Amino acid sequence: MRPFDYVRAETVDEAVAAVAAAPHAMFLGGGTNLVDHLRLGIAGPDLLVDVSRLPLAVVEDLPDGGLRIGAAVRNSDLAADERVRRRYPALSRALLSGASGQLRNLATTAGNLLQRTRCVYFQDVTTACNKREPGSGCSALEGYQRYHAIFGASADCVAVHPSDMAVAMLCLDATVRVHSRVGDRSIPLAELHRLPGDEPDRDNVLRHGELITAVDLPPSRPTARSTYRKVRDRASFAFALVSVAASVDLDGDNTINDVRIACGAVAHKPWRAHRAEDLLHGATASAEGFRQAADAELEAAKPLEGNAFKVPMLRNTMVRVLLDLTEDVGPRDIPSADHHEGDR
Ligand code: SF4
Repeated sequence: MRPFDYVRAETVDEAVAAVAAAPHAMFLGGGTNLVDHLRLGIAGPDLLVDVSRLPLAVVEDLPDGGLRIGAAVRNSDLAADERVRRRYPALSRALLSGASGQLRNLATTAGNLLQRTRCVYFQDVTTACNKREPGSGCSALEGYQRYHAIFGASADCVAVHPSDMAVAMLCLDATVRVHSRVGDRSIPLAELHRLPGDEPDRDNVLRHGELITAVDLPPSRPTARSTYRKVRDRASFAFALVSVAASVDLDGDNTINDVRIACGAVAHKPWRAHRAEDLLHGATASAEGFRQAADAELEAAKPLEGNAFKVPMLRNTMVRVLLDLTEDVGPRDIPSADHHEGDR
């Protein structure tokens, strides 16, 4: 590990000023990802500005009926929040399916969004990786591809974003609030993460010195149902092979008034299934319609040799989730607050 200075910020303004003043400074939240990177030599900041004690660990109701989630709210606290469980069950489920109970007790909302890929080569400093060392090459192109992208990859990087929480937040049309020395700005979550292109070292659109302070969720539709399903190699403490978050609002004659679908572990960013959504808006809910919508989305897929299985897997998961949300419309499915190791 390379040596670095450490300061604990007392205010948000103090934190952003400290990072902005040092070109290689980084914010430290829960540390569940960054500390690993310090140990592995992937991250080498000269200054760490600890933001974990800032007063950002609050979940607040917004006047419009939405919810503001502070950047420092721990994943386990957010999953257990009664308002999240009742109004945004997809988010609670996604959080509970991530990592382990111990990690969720430390990991924060902002840190979860900003976690980096778990591509094995990114984490192995003896291998070539354009994300870790721009211009060095991409070992995954001829290597282990089981966890890699089927949408939006480039010749420079085929990694995926590993978050479960971000997939649910994308489906819920969340907005990220950011503070810096020049003021505040809001970024739709759909625009926070980026595709790799020829700059795979840039995971997102944040500028140096910008601190995420909160994530806002719009009001949930009272008649909509949402859920999250994650497919993985083992029942807990595993990253997704594919995942799907969806929200569906049906009217009395089974017509889809509103549908939102987001997919995880298939691209460098959480992937919004716009093609599928476009086909389903105003359609009658049916298994055949869901299959056609999933197929339409997957027309854009470009799997690698080692992850072609993700195409039928994502198709089946998307169809299953949409059926779950429309087949037995009854009381909304509220995740258990004492659920510890994921629901699927
Ligand atoms: Fe690095 Fe991306 Fe290639 Fe993985 S897929 S080795 S993160 S450049």
